[in-house]
Amino acid sequence: MIVNGSLISQDVATLNESAQDQLRIHSIETFGTHDGPGIRMVIFVQGCQFRCLYCANPDTLDVKGGKLMNLEEIVQRAVRQKPFFGKLGGVTVSGGEPLLQRKILKKLFLRLHEEGINTVLDSNGRLINRQAKELLEETDLLMLDVKHFNNDWHKKLTGLSNVNTFKVAEYREGTGKPMWLRYVLVPGWSDQEEHLEQLGQHFKDYKTIQKIEILPYHKLGMHKWESLGMEYKLKDVERPTEESLERTAAILRKYFKEVQVN
Ligand code: SF4
Repeated sequence: MIVNGSLISQDVATLNESAQDQLRIHSIETFGTHDGPGIRMVIFVQGCQFRCLYCANPDTLDVKGGKLMNLEEIVQRAVRQKPFFGKLGGVTVSGGEPLLQRKILKKLFLRLHEEGINTVLDSNGRLINRQAKELLEETDLLMLDVKHFNNDWHKKLTGLSNVNTFKVAEYREGTGKPMWLRYVLVPGWSDQEEHLEQLGQHFKDYKTIQKIEILPYHKLGMHKWESLGMEYKLKDVERPTEESLERTAAILRKYFKEVQVN
């Protein structure tokens, strides 16, 4: 596990330069139903620059961890699973943070499209450059994780700024391609009414946002933090109450056509 600055700033796309056509992954889930429409093969890629205090998969953060897997092997696995995807399903790439491996993921999504397989990218929107835009071009649905509207709170929660996340949303809106927003509701951290209203105001005119998902905070990843020797700072924070979830959903319903509590 790494937490020092030098590794945080490294980019898996660069690390993998020599290992062309290989994706650094953490794991693959075969029949995922929580990460995008329908039944999906979910690829959890390795490496993330955020340090969300509630991260349920802290073992995906290290950009040098995980294992390398050949692109074509992944494609063939998806092709074998294709009969189970139905009309809505396909492949989701989640993490970790997929944008760190944008170059290779663009190749993967291109190949999946050749095979007639739908692509979803679950991203925190950490960066937007030419290669990220090219990947988004091959992404049928973007699930953008907005961790907080307020930048100070965002930094407290994730260690980094939210500026690029909003730039990614703006770029996606400009392309006219669909996206969902995802918002982890953490009591005392991301449930302030004022900031939820601001979030709604910011996105209310976006036409490409099909829905916003509220993900209730949970502590299921806490034991992983402990086993990695990392301090879990939200020990005393409990799952949001039903009232708090309903209050949040009511605020967001004023601005988004669909609000889903997961
Ligand atoms: S963005 Fe996702 S993978 Fe990265 S630290 Fe946050 S929750 Fe974990």
